[in-house]
Amino acid sequence: MNTIEQNVHSIEDQLGKSLREAQRDRVGLRVVVVTKYVSIEQAKEVVSLGYKDLGENRPEGLIAKQEALQDDSIVWHYIGSLQTRKVKKVINRIDYLHSLDRMSLAEEIEKRAEKPVSCFVQVNVAGEDSKSGFSPDEVMDFIRSLAQFEKITVIGLMTMAPKNADTQTIRKTFSELKQLRDEVQLLGLSYAPCTELSMGMSQDYPIAIEEGSNFVRIGSAFFKNTTVDED
Ligand SMILES: *Cc1c(COP(=O)(O)O)cnc(C)c1O
Repeated sequence: MNTIEQNVHSIEDQLGKSLREAQRDRVGLRVVVVTKYVSIEQAKEVVSLGYKDLGENRPEGLIAKQEALQDDSIVWHYIGSLQTRKVKKVINRIDYLHSLDRMSLAEEIEKRAEKPVSCFVQVNVAGEDSKSGFSPDEVMDFIRSLAQFEKITVIGLMTMAPKNADTQTIRKTFSELKQLRDEVQLLGLSYAPCTELSMGMSQDYPIAIEEGSNFVRIGSAFFKNTTVDED
């Protein structure tokens, strides 16, 4: 058995190493703790250890955690695929959406959001059938087509590396996203500053940080071996 605190120590050690490797500061890195698999008690514990960015991937999970935690200092990230009919439920409860992956979602956000939402456009860099997101060659046109949307700010791009891929493939995925981010940024669109990169999960966050990620989304590494499996 581990404690969350022990896991935090290993993660922070690894973050420190990767940041040094990349000659970057800890302050420039947002660690989004993905609490989608864990209880309210476990989420409370990570918050008490100083983590204020929490990520959820289901409306029900998000709302349950928000209502139980009642803490205005928490920044809420929606990280999973969001069904159009659920937009109304969550869009005014979150600070960041990491999964803007289709035009119909943008249209629904435009209709339902009360103020501009900070969004990451999701890119399927590796072209996997199982993943949603735009292919790299669709991203520019999609972002240009958001010009008339008042409720969407494209603050960056997000991707997931293929599962169980080799280091080189993962690194290439992340560096391609960064390059694409730089290209969008050069367009100089007021609604798409596109300064941020959301990439890196428990399996691959060290590589993501070396490749310039400033929002890592880490779940299982925080919570592994902290509970006895139910079955
Ligand atoms: C679940 C999830 C994560 C966290 O995954 P871990 O492997 O547990 O770190 C990050 N991003 C997205 C989009 C997820 O769905």
